Amino acid sequence: MRVAVFSAKNYERALLNELNAGHGHDLVYFDALLEPETASLAAGFPAVSVFVNDAVNRDVLRSLAQGETKLVATRCTGFNHIDLEAADEFGIRVVRVANYSPNSVAEFAVGLLLALNRKIHRAYNRTREGNFKLDGLMGFDLVGRTVAVIGTGRIGTIFARIMAGFGCKVIGFDVHRSAEFEEIGGRYVDAKGVEEADVISMHCPLTPETYHIVDARTLGRVKTGALLINTSRGGLVDTDAAIDALKSGRLGGMAIDVYEQEADLFYRDLSSAVIPDDVIQRLVSFPNVIVTGHQAFFTREALETILGTTLASISEFEAGRPLAFEIAAPGRARG
Ligand code: NAD
Repeated sequence: MRVAVFSAKNYERALLNELNAGHGHDLVYFDALLEPETASLAAGFPAVSVFVNDAVNRDVLRSLAQGETKLVATRCTGFNHIDLEAADEFGIRVVRVANYSPNSVAEFAVGLLLALNRKIHRAYNRTREGNFKLDGLMGFDLVGRTVAVIGTGRIGTIFARIMAGFGCKVIGFDVHRSAEFEEIGGRYVDAKGVEEADVISMHCPLTPETYHIVDARTLGRVKTGALLINTSRGGLVDTDAAIDALKSGRLGGMAIDVYEQEADLFYRDLSSAVIPDDVIQRLVSFPNVIVTGHQAFFTREALETILGTTLASISEFEAGRPLAFEIAAPGRARG
């Protein structure tokens, strides 16, 4: 099937081409973001593949339908960038990647914790400048410390298992209990349990209930010097409140792979630009803050699953088989 592939970076193109050997689709890459001005590029392509920053809105979907596109395959789990009702109206089906290597994210969260606690990011910079002093680089042993896992689903449970392996006490906070989490030795606590934690790691989804779940009130209750790790979604943490807690010393450090305003920054090289976002600039100015650009998922295994699932969905569509990862418009059953 002819597929118009938007927003694929070089690393994705190479892997897509490799995996496509088993599918035989005709993949045509477009550097442009998919938006109303560029949608005509997809004319004549029955399938279009997109990523998180492509704006698959009503105007784009109307153009795609006019160009005979019948399938949009997004190479991610979230689908807030796609107008599902408009897709349904224009007869375009939508598939996504429901899940991929939870290990990739859990392992990255552990990496952030180790770097933050033992100041590896600072040591790396120092030694490159010929500074081999240890002042300011002291961390703490993780063994025996209490680690709070907010959201004990797939990723949170793997993170908990790794931390239990370090000899940490693991406590969890979730609206549903996981038997696996308890088997590891995890103990469920209520919101007050955060007071016990030396490390807090976020692994729940962003929903209206979890928006700013870490706010000034929560941060007012954490142990002085606690470390906060967020590899889940930026909107879980009230960044202004976190900055206040870092300034007062209440938070001993914070490592984030996600940021509430990341859509304007992440996946771009802005190194020659003046970044107008004062909050991210304040964050990166702290010695005890690490910011990464939403890369926790970025392992070969996860990327292979993401791209392999996308190609398989396109093959299912071409063969007229049921689409395992179809997303239906609200109020519509899956086709
Ligand atoms: P999951 O659905 O397996 O687990 C999420 C857990 O959060 C569930 O146990 C759920 O009950 C719990 N939860 C829901 N609402 C809650 C609430 N109000 N309070 C406490 N817990 C609540 O999801 P997962 O696969 O483990 O992924 C977790 C999150 O990781 C995703 O939602 C996504 O935001 C994030 N993620 C980040 C990256 C990255 O690259 N940084 C990649 C993939 C996923």
